[in-house]
Amino acid sequence: MTDTDTLSIAKRRDAVLAELSDAATPPPQLVAVTKTQPDEAIEEILATGQRLFGENRVQEAEARWAGRRSAYPDLELHLIGPLQTNKAEIAVRLFDMIETLDRPKLADALAKAMEKVGRALPVLIQVNTGEEPQKAGVIPSELQQLLQYAREKGLDVQGLMCIPPVDEPAGPHFALLAKLAKEAGLPVLSMGMSSDYVTAARFGSTHVRVGSALFGPRDYP
Ligand SMILES: *Cc1c(COP(=O)(O)O)cnc(C)c1O
Repeated sequence: MTDTDTLSIAKRRDAVLAELSDAATPPPQLVAVTKTQPDEAIEEILATGQRLFGENRVQEAEARWAGRRSAYPDLELHLIGPLQTNKAEIAVRLFDMIETLDRPKLADALAKAMEKVGRALPVLIQVNTGEEPQKAGVIPSELQQLLQYAREKGLDVQGLMCIPPVDEPAGPHFALLAKLAKEAGLPVLSMGMSSDYVTAARFGSTHVRVGSALFGPRDYP
């Protein structure tokens, strides 16, 4: 963990990138999670060259990023929060990857939206590795079924994503996600947040989603 109070965003980002490089070769890509961040913070991190971002709410992401697309054509936006089917079309227009496919109805809605919009986005399936009742994601035993369904719908499923339970060590959850991805032949693994991105990198993460270690604490989780 880096010092989030006194350093600039650029320095914190350098520190996170250095830790990731030390932890794995190649290191995972850094997805900067910009939810709730003010414009100054967004401009500050764009100035570092960071172009890959994660947002967990569709409308908030649209307000923050839609107008910045033309200035930053190499921007890459990942949806990392739950998606309601009635927002699938806005999400398909705005994002470059959907990390949170977790049910057949959403696969239907995404397939339909991609067809309508004429954009085929890569998708990750969110797995509820801790089988927590309140958490989004398929439980591991239902992954295969959802994967097959999504593929039948024509979705380009490239990997898996997880958010481990807050009160447990993350390592076993990362190991489980890596094993599930390997069994399914899926190359992309979105795992690791501010508290555990180094651990995630060691377990083969390809994308870490980091917010507070770059920007400082937020108002909502
Ligand atoms: C907010 C959020 C993150 C980033 O959390 P930090 O602990 O601030 O790094 C990562 N993934 C998801 C799905 C999130 O909602």
